[in-house]
Formats: sequence, C-alpha cells, structure tokens
Amino acid sequence: MQRRNVTIFTDASFCHQTKAGGGAYWARDSEHRAQAAFCIKAATQAHEAELIASCRAIMECLKDPNLGPALRQPGTRLILVIDCLFVKSALEWREGRKPKMNANLWLKVTRVRNIIYRAGFELKINHVKAHTGTKQPRTWVNDWCDSQAKIQMRRLRNSLKVPLLCGCGKGQASKEDEICSFCRERWVSRAEAKKVGVRHRGDGLSLEDYRKITQFR
Ligand SMILES: [Zn+2]
Repeated sequence: MQRRNVTIFTDASFCHQTKAGGGAYWARDSEHRAQAAFCIKAATQAHEAELIASCRAIMECLKDPNLGPALRQPGTRLILVIDCLFVKSALEWREGRKPKMNANLWLKVTRVRNIIYRAGFELKINHVKAHTGTKQPRTWVNDWCDSQAKIQMRRLRNSLKVPLLCGCGKGQASKEDEICSFCRERWVSRAEAKKVGVRHRGDGLSLEDYRKITQFR
C-alpha cells in the first residue's frame, strides 16, 4: 500500500511594536485541500507566532472533514513545511532537550504533541529558508501563506489602540504603510508632487497624497 502524505505549509507574521500577529496555512493530501488564515494574539516574539501558527494548522487539519480522517489512517505521514527552526525544535524535542519558551506556550505544544501521538501519524518537519527577497524561488503556496499572515497581522494591529512608531524614531506611523508623514514627504521629490498637484512643503504628507504621487512611479 502506498504511504499517504498530508503536507501543511504554514507561515506567520509578527509586529514587534504592537505584538500583533497573524498566521496562515495551506494543506493538502493527494485528493483534498484546506486553507485558512487567522490573527495571533498570544505571541510576544516572532518565533512564538510561528509556533502558534503551526500548532493551530495541525489542530485544524485534524478537525478537517477530509484531512482529519486521512491523518488518522495508519501509516500516514504529516509533512509540516516551515521557515522557523524554533518550531522544529519545539515540536521535535526529546526528553532533556526542551527548548526555551513560556509556560503557556509549552502547555500548548505539549497538548499538540499528545494529540499527534494519539492520532498516530508520523510528523516530519521540513525547514525551508525564509523569504529573503528576490533570490529564493518560492512557490505560490509559500507566498500565499506569507501574504495572508501579513493581512491578518495588519487586521489585528489596526484594531489595537497601540500607536505605531515610524522607523525614523520620531513620528507616529500610519498602520497602513508603517511610516510617518515626514518620512513619506522625504521619499518623494518636489517635482513628482508638483506633477499631480500635491503640496510638498516640508510639513509632512498624508498617506492619500503620498499614494497620489507614487502611483505614477
Ligand atoms: Zn518617520
């Protein structure tokens, strides 16, 4: 009998300033597909968000009407594709080599590990390189998870009352483009602004005006 594989791709996004996180997964076996994206509220660091996203993906696939029964069939292997080594060490730990994490997260991991053990499938974790720009060829699945996780993180961040500081360290950034009005103005020239009839006077630029200028780039 041919061995059945269920593959889950997961990714997470995390905002250090506001602690807002987002996650997404895309899963398949030979016949079925499942996918979802969600906000992550309990993470305090990026690797925690990654671990929470992976745990949630596994749990949701076990509850999936198609993938769940497939995972419980004897001999099934679950291949989890992640770009975070912490997730690998957390889900694959052996006695005596417990990775550092807070008690709540540890509880979550232990629960997921117990559920995996009871369901009886083999867990294989494939670590792939993180999104590093243009050099690494990535599949659309990786890109889908990446973009969906970001959307969910932004959604949660927008709902939080915590202000976001611009990278320049001075102004308050918009949660849309993550920069302040002064940086925005610095990043476009007077000539560009003039072309679309936007004032450029050194006192900051609204997101709306900035978009008006940059859409012609
Ligand atoms: Zn700034």
